[in-house]
Amino acid sequence: MSDVVIIGGGPAGSVLGSYLSMAGVSNVILEKAVFPRPHVGESMVSSTVRIFDEIGFLPTMEAEGFTRKYGAAWHPTKGKGEFAIRFAEFPQDGVNQDYTYHVERGRFDQLLLEHAQGLGSEILQPAAVRKVLFDEDGYASGVRVSIDGELSDIPAKLVIDCSGRNTVLGTQLGLRVKDPIFNQFAVSGWFENVHRSDDPETSEYIHIYFLPAERGWAWQIPISDTVTSIGVAAEREVFKQSRQRTEDYFDDMVSKSPGLAKAMENAVSINELNSEADYSYAMSSFVGDGWMLVGDAARFVDPIFSSGISIAAEAAKYASQEIITALETGDVSQEALQPYEDRIKMGVAIWYEFILLYYKLMHLFTYFIESKEHRLQILQLLQGEVYDRENAPVLDAMREVIRTVEETPGHLWKDHLTDIPIN
Ligand SMILES: Cc1cc2nc3c(=O)[nH]c(=O)nc-3n(C[C@H](O)[C@H](O)[C@H](O)COP(=O)(O)OP(=O)(O)OC[C@H]3O[C@@H](n4cnc5c(N)ncnc54)[C@H](O)[C@@H]3O)c2cc1C
Repeated sequence: MSDVVIIGGGPAGSVLGSYLSMAGVSNVILEKAVFPRPHVGESMVSSTVRIFDEIGFLPTMEAEGFTRKYGAAWHPTKGKGEFAIRFAEFPQDGVNQDYTYHVERGRFDQLLLEHAQGLGSEILQPAAVRKVLFDEDGYASGVRVSIDGELSDIPAKLVIDCSGRNTVLGTQLGLRVKDPIFNQFAVSGWFENVHRSDDPETSEYIHIYFLPAERGWAWQIPISDTVTSIGVAAEREVFKQSRQRTEDYFDDMVSKSPGLAKAMENAVSINELNSEADYSYAMSSFVGDGWMLVGDAARFVDPIFSSGISIAAEAAKYASQEIITALETGDVSQEALQPYEDRIKMGVAIWYEFILLYYKLMHLFTYFIESKEHRLQILQLLQGEVYDRENAPVLDAMREVIRTVEETPGHLWKDHLTDIPIN
C-alpha cells in the first residue's frame, strides 16, 4: 500500500509526487486521461522555475525547447502601443535564469508526470477516481477507482486531491463555493502566422490586450516558433448577450482591439476553438482528516496573470512538507494539516486582491508599470514571489489611487472605474 494516493497527474499532482518521492514517501498518482491531452493554461510566471530546479526538472524543460518567456506586455484598448516588463529587471533569489516558459500543456504535463515516475511515483493511467473512501472515524482511507472498466479500492494513509477543476473530493463533500464576483467565459485556439510584435525583443513575451467589454482581455502566447495561442476572456454575460456563435464571438472580440486585430490580420486557425466557463470558485476547506486539496482542486483564481501553474506547484511543495511531517508523527488530522491551508490561502488571497484591483481600474495597472516607484513591486507580484501580504505594499498604493479617483470630482480616470467591489 502507498502512503499517499494522489488524484490527478496535472502539474499539482506531478510536482507533489516528485517532492514526496524525493523524500522517500511512497505515492501513487491516478490520472484518468491518456497523455498527451490538450489543456488550457500555457504560460507560466517565474516562480515555477525554482520549483522545477528543486525537483530536477529544469534540464527536461530546456531539452524540450519550450519557448522562453522573458517578460510580459500589455496593450491598452485604444492605440497600438504596448507596455512591457522584462523579468530580468527583478532578479529572483535562488533562480539562475531570467526567463520562465510558455508550454504546450499536452507535452509539458506528460513530461512532468514521467518525471515524477522517474523519481519513484507509481503512475496508474488511465485510472478515473470515482470517489474518496472514508473510515468509520471520518478519516479519508483511500479511493475507489475505475481502471479498464473495473472498479477497485486503493487504500492510503492520506488522499490528496489534485484533480483540477474536476474537484473530485470538494464536490463529493459539497465544499465548492462559487466566486461571488467572477463569472468569466474564455474562448481560445491555436493559430499560425500571428504577427506577435513590432518589437523583436517582446515577440516571445506573453501579450495581454485589454478589450472594451466587461472584464474583457485577450492573451497571445507563443507556443512554438510558428504556433501562437490566442484566447479572449470576458464576463460570461458579454458572450450571452452577444447571442453569437462561439466562432463569431471570438472574431468579434479580436476585432475590438486594434493591436490584436493587427496581430491576427493574416492568422490561420489550426485547431478547433475551445471554450471554458464557470472557472472561478473556492473550496471552503483545503484540508480535513486524512485529506488535502492542491492546485485547482482547492481554488481557482482568474487567469489574467498566468498564476495557475505556479499556485499549483507552490501548493504542491507546501503540501509535501505537511504530508512528510504528518506521516512522521502519525497525525494526519485536519488540525495537523491546517498550516498548509493557512499558507496557501494567504498566498492566493494576494493574487486575488491584485486581480480585483486590476479589474477595478485597468488604467491603473499600466500607470503602475510605468511608475519608477511601483514597477519593481508589480513585477515581483507578477513573478509569483509574494506569499505574505505585508510584502505587497503596492496593493495598498493601488487602493489609494483608486480612492483618489473615486473621491475627485471630474477625475480623468473616473469613467474607467468599474463597479467591482474591492473591500
Ligand atoms: C481560460 C484559462 C486560461 C488559463 N491560463 C493560464 C496560464 O496562462 N497560465 C497558468 O499558469 N494557468 C492558466 N490557467 C490555469 C491552469 O490551467 C491551472 O491552474 C492548472 O492547470 C492547475 O493545475 P492542476 O494540476 O491543479 O490541475 P489540472 O492541470 O487540471 O490537472 C488535473 C488532472 O487531474 C485529472 N483528473 C481529473 N479528474 C480525475 C479523476 N476523477 N481521476 C483521476 N484523474 C482525474 C485530469 O485529467 C488532469 O490531468 C488558465 C485557466 C483557464 C480556465
